[in-house]
Amino acid sequence: MNNIYDTIIIGGGLAGLKTAFDLKKNKFNILVLEARNRFGGRTESIKIGNGWIDAGGQWLGANNPNTKQLCEELKLETYKQYYEGKTIFDIYDKEGNSIKSFDESKVDLKDIGLGYIIPVIKRLDDISKEVDFSRTSKENPLMESLEKLSVSNWLIVNGFGESIKFFNWFCQMSLASSSDDVSIAFLMKYVNSCGSIESIFLSGDCCAEDSRIIGGSTMMAYKMVSFIKNCKLNREVVSIDQISDSIDRLIKVTTSNGDIYFCTNVVSTVPPTLLRNVTFKPELPLEKQRLKNEMEMGSTIKIIVIYDSAFWREQGFNGKALSFNGPVYESFDNCTHDLSVKSIVGFINGKDELKHWYSKSKEERKSAVLYQFSKYWGPKALNPISYIERNWKEEKFSSGCYMGVCKPGSVLSECNDFFRQPHGKIHWAGTETSTQWYGHMEGAITSSKRVVKEIIRNSFNSKSKL
Ligand SMILES: Cc1cc2nc3c(=O)[nH]c(=O)nc-3n(C[C@H](O)[C@H](O)[C@H](O)COP(=O)(O)OP(=O)(O)OC[C@H]3O[C@@H](n4cnc5c(N)ncnc54)[C@H](O)[C@@H]3O)c2cc1C
Repeated sequence: MNNIYDTIIIGGGLAGLKTAFDLKKNKFNILVLEARNRFGGRTESIKIGNGWIDAGGQWLGANNPNTKQLCEELKLETYKQYYEGKTIFDIYDKEGNSIKSFDESKVDLKDIGLGYIIPVIKRLDDISKEVDFSRTSKENPLMESLEKLSVSNWLIVNGFGESIKFFNWFCQMSLASSSDDVSIAFLMKYVNSCGSIESIFLSGDCCAEDSRIIGGSTMMAYKMVSFIKNCKLNREVVSIDQISDSIDRLIKVTTSNGDIYFCTNVVSTVPPTLLRNVTFKPELPLEKQRLKNEMEMGSTIKIIVIYDSAFWREQGFNGKALSFNGPVYESFDNCTHDLSVKSIVGFINGKDELKHWYSKSKEERKSAVLYQFSKYWGPKALNPISYIERNWKEEKFSSGCYMGVCKPGSVLSECNDFFRQPHGKIHWAGTETSTQWYGHMEGAITSSKRVVKEIIRNSFNSKSKL
């Protein structure tokens, strides 16, 4: 049979392709099965004139060593995010004084009017020292009790009620979910994996939006595919059967178009919530089933507005705006390194916000976004060359973004280890399995390092038993 492989990798996003890339370098006979008609998963670069813009993941964080190393290996160049000039802060309630701008490099939280979140950050830091958020903490009563509370409820119970507005914005901006819909334990797991609350929303030496890839993030995927070669598109895996082939003890992988493949190991990089669409024999352990059934993907519309000039730069602004009022909760300068594309990118985030804005026409959304931008950078913002939106909730093989999140309950404290724990010969990778940069490209790439070690160790062990 020519459809037998050492390892089949499910998903041609960054985690799957990096796993396949490294296994191929180690001479494994591998196959990548990707459900979509393109590679890259939650990264997708689109061509605008002579430049490439990202409709999905785009920024490398300042502390993303594995993504940087991959770019170097693939000979991809990066360029710094544009932060010269002032950032807009549309976060104040006072009548007539609701928009201010600051040079972020010269101010601290107190200067921008966010001094009231300092005690909250201190409290969260103190708690973090008592809980290992990367591991299951059934035994840790603190983790269990934290998980029962949503972010908003935790703030109220702890006397930080005045910070709710900020933290709702923070959850929308970073998790694409509202502070009522995620547990405080999950938020802490996320923040701990990425650095700090400040580094997630402020530019600086450790910031999350530090640089971009020339040619777009999907260049990583396509460069890896050209090395791996054995990658198939339009192959949605619908079942993984470890039982039927009891003689050769091979795993049978079936796709929705009826293809059947066999292998010794499987690496699944399918995001947890999408595992609902795959049948497993034997069935997944209860904890893994809970992760797939109880987690939820965030809700994001990414908006890219193209202009004929970077007029905000000329006025001393850097295109970054943080807004509690929306419709865009966060925006950035999105020009390409060579200015072949002049653009601002923004995000409408959160379940209710998506519902609200998707009940309106595209023209209405466009008008609201452009009006918001004009309040920050003047009337030129009202006249773009082009307005592009991408609603990731509508993507069948992502079902939302940026990542899977955990609601208040007990799934994290009871099932945390099962993000990664192999199920027989099925191994798990993907950004949701990562303890570093959960939800980011770095998380996806880092997860592949762990799973490649697992596969190599397994194959060494099984050969040494022969
Ligand atoms: C709008 C947006 C903005 C973002 N911004 C950033 C950013 O600036 N910086 C950053 O670091 N991260 C960002 N992210 C997150 C980042 O893109 C993801 O964390 C990362 O790409 C996830 O990679 P992955 O391989 O783990 O998962 P995915 O990319 O989701 O890969 C999983 C793959 O599996 C495929 N698949 C699903 N089901 C099946 C099946 N049954 N059979 C076969 N294949 C299947 C999917 O099609 C997909 O290709 C953003 C994401 C989005 C959507």
